[in-house]
Amino acid sequence: EFAILHGEIVKRSEAKVDVEDRGYQFGDGVYEVIRVYNGKMFTEHEHLNRLAKSTDSIGISLPFTNENLKGLLVELIEKNKLQNGIIYMQVTRGVALRNHAFPTEYVTPCLTTYTKKIERPVDSMRSGVKTILTEDIRWLRCDIKSLNLLGNVLAKQKAAEAGCFEVIQHRGQEVTEGSTSNIFIVKNDIVITHASDHLILKGITKDVLLVVCAKNNLRVEERMFTIEELKQADECFLTSSTSEVMPIVEIDGNKISNGIPGPITRKLQEWFGQEIEKQCGS
Ligand code: PLP
Repeated sequence: EFAILHGEIVKRSEAKVDVEDRGYQFGDGVYEVIRVYNGKMFTEHEHLNRLAKSTDSIGISLPFTNENLKGLLVELIEKNKLQNGIIYMQVTRGVALRNHAFPTEYVTPCLTTYTKKIERPVDSMRSGVKTILTEDIRWLRCDIKSLNLLGNVLAKQKAAEAGCFEVIQHRGQEVTEGSTSNIFIVKNDIVITHASDHLILKGITKDVLLVVCAKNNLRVEERMFTIEELKQADECFLTSSTSEVMPIVEIDGNKISNGIPGPITRKLQEWFGQEIEKQCGS
């Protein structure tokens, strides 16, 4: 297995970072997860653009262009013979004496990347998954794909302890997103999901799906929705790069759409699958 460290492809066992890396000490960095199907990246431009946006938003200037990065990722996929899986990329502010403020001297940002094999979660996509509600205790810049994931970690652990796949987070009555996914409901044939503001991560899967909805004349509302609307929804699902379009069939022990994935969710899964085929083949 190979990995990327500072723009070089090295043996994974040689991709080591210093104990004073600011990502390690402060979570001072950002990351991306890119899906790979049939040895090809899915929506890599969108992911690389989001990575650039994340680094910009915290004042890290990446010493690589998207074209450089893409070339490196293609090479890494080949070297690791990755067919189906993910690429994980992380950029931290780099190594400096521990001090909360940014280093005053120039420090090279630390880019690390590796790949992992995973298959599409076909069984869960067919049967749907269970979720629980939990208060969203994260900070107010959830639009940055930050390495600071403690809020998400604690939320996902609650789901794990409840035997659930994911949590649905809310701030008071307002539903925000999952711990590693965006949340959608369907009511009277309208697809509803939180607007991409500072309270959620602007998911690439979410955006692909919104385009798919528009193409197929399905009405979408990107707006705040409440726990009450969630409970009264006809259908519910989550989206992420690894989970794709995942039906939610239970919330806090109560069934949604009679405990089976709804018809619009099914359609969206099918259309999303076609987008994957278009970009990565079948
Ligand atoms: N929201 C959060 C908090 C996430 O961590 C993720 C992805 O991991 C998403 C949403 C979905 O984003 P994407 O569709 O780009 O994978």
